Amino acid sequence: MTANPTRVLVLNSGSSSVKYQLLDMADGARLAVGLVERIGEETSRLAHTPLATGGAKRETEAPIADHEAALRAVARELAEDGLGLDSPELAAIGHRVVHGGLKFTEPTVITEEVVAEIERLVPVAPLHNPANITGIRTAQGLRPDLPQVAVFDTAFHTTMPESAARYAIDVETADAHRIRRYGFHGTSHAYVSRETAKLLGKDPSEVNVIVLHLGNGASASAVRGGRCVDTSMGLTPLEGLVMGTRSGDIDPAVILHLSRNAGMSTDEIDSLLNKKSGLIGLCGDNDMREIRRRIDAGDERAALAFDIYVHRLKKYIGAYYAVLGKVDAIAFTAGVGENAAPVREAAVAGLAELGLAVDADLNAVRGDEPRLISPASARVAVAVVPTDEELEIATQTYALVSA
Ligand code: ADP
Repeated sequence: MTANPTRVLVLNSGSSSVKYQLLDMADGARLAVGLVERIGEETSRLAHTPLATGGAKRETEAPIADHEAALRAVARELAEDGLGLDSPELAAIGHRVVHGGLKFTEPTVITEEVVAEIERLVPVAPLHNPANITGIRTAQGLRPDLPQVAVFDTAFHTTMPESAARYAIDVETADAHRIRRYGFHGTSHAYVSRETAKLLGKDPSEVNVIVLHLGNGASASAVRGGRCVDTSMGLTPLEGLVMGTRSGDIDPAVILHLSRNAGMSTDEIDSLLNKKSGLIGLCGDNDMREIRRRIDAGDERAALAFDIYVHRLKKYIGAYYAVLGKVDAIAFTAGVGENAAPVREAAVAGLAELGLAVDADLNAVRGDEPRLISPASARVAVAVVPTDEELEIATQTYALVSA
């Protein structure tokens, strides 16, 4: 007799990549993790680590034409370790879907109507939603009988009040084109704000947290009692903080100026702001490790890029402090937030009047566990809380299908 299936495959389908993890929700164990990159290019790369068997990472380079071929290759890798998609132990597939608009406020079992709605949102998420749909369709083809769940990056932010979500532009125009602030990285902000409450020994409903998700993409959110009340990304992930390759906030007239006076096309401006701005635009590097190395070697451009990055971060901390009124904790997460002690130190430097401080020794400690880096006497806790979007997607998916 087979017990109820407890495994969940999490798929994160990007425009040219698929990241995946197979988890067993009986104990949260990761059975396999992997990544297919450069889909559709001359040489694609698949890296697969079968954690369940303790086997070594397997890497293969071969052309993989599209997402369907990518997912079939993933299925073959999983089958090699006895973890194939045909396994009766597989309970569901959970998909990260970037844009869920206003309709999807919760993880949702995927039906034809759900796919149609994700399709309707393509104009506001042209890079992401088409790849997510392809991932869903391919997975449906491989296991038509299995429940598939969409977990939306925007869902956590749907609790934002209109005062935070609306841009101050003509209401009819905004509504006709669904222009408003949606926010992204919601799965991470939800997970990290909950884990921060746990670290403080409190229920999420009792604490106000500013979450700083600083990866290659970066966003901040203000979370009051477990509900998001403001976030820095907007209609698209371009708004807000300085990121690896995105500008974050700029005067919208910069776009008009480039269009009128620099003869740049819409696509060129899009590429400038999304791919050639932020840290890479400022100093030629988007990896904070490399930027710190250059600063240590006396590089002034890298130092200025770092200062601009931190200045923006500090502005958002101040803004969200004011939005929340009372702050219990600030949580740093994702690649930069979890690893770059100098960013954390600089972001709260000089904010002692707001009850914010970082203990240098605690800040220097490295680790995978949530931890406090503020002095014991600090009024506001400053924490490093590693994010785990795959675990969050798997948890939400499993909760839905096992209910
Ligand atoms: P994403 O998921 O947005 O691609 P991640 O959350 O994995 O990004 O973050 C990637 C970024 O984290 C890298 O570009 C780099 O700037 C930063 N990073 C990773 N490790 C370190 C480290 N040890 N020190 C400083 N920065 C780091």
